[in-house]
Amino acid sequence: MRYIIGNWKANLNLEEVDNFCQEWNVATPNEKTVALAVPCVFYAYLATRKIGFTPILQDISIFGENGARTGEITVENLRGIEPPFTLVGHSERRRDFGETNEVIVAKAKNLMRAKITPIICFDLEQMEELAKLLQEFAPKTYLLAYEPVDAIGTGKNLSGELLQAQFKLIRQVFAPGTKILYGGSVKAENVAQYHDLSDGVLVGGASLKPQEFAQIVERA
Ligand code: PEP
Repeated sequence: MRYIIGNWKANLNLEEVDNFCQEWNVATPNEKTVALAVPCVFYAYLATRKIGFTPILQDISIFGENGARTGEITVENLRGIEPPFTLVGHSERRRDFGETNEVIVAKAKNLMRAKITPIICFDLEQMEELAKLLQEFAPKTYLLAYEPVDAIGTGKNLSGELLQAQFKLIRQVFAPGTKILYGGSVKAENVAQYHDLSDGVLVGGASLKPQEFAQIVERA
């Protein structure tokens, strides 16, 4: 299975989301899983319509239960419209909201309890600690996304021998069988080079353009 996950971040409004859905006309092949992490305000709207792609969330509350948590979205809020995946630990959450590996793994645990697969993002400096914290979980219950911070949103995607060496190291540090995606300036023109190295890709900016994202799905 290859995973092609888009991340809209805090982009688009309702009209633009509708336009994207109208332009999106891709039949996902069986061997590929395609999902788009949408702003949560659009999640239920998309999850209850036939739109041809799977909407997922970009984050989840650290609080596992519903209650007096203004502004939060818990796994219990999602009952009945659960996404198959949810991102956690994106570098923007780590940078702008001070999220640590402990916080991220606590969120991942809430998701796993609700049978939602977390896609846990990390850069190399967080890797060793993250791997230790994940030891208690079966690798098939989560996905990882290696996202070198310098490659995110910069147009400087990592590739070649450096990335091969990094992926080798990453696969040694995490449990055997862990699925690992690559993210960082993936575009239609460069996505093919991640085919043999990773189990899929996490795509930011290019997932906002339906035609380019469709090409990425085809070539990934
Ligand atoms: C991301 O947001 O996870 C990402 C990889 O962004 P971009 O593809 O725009 O670099």
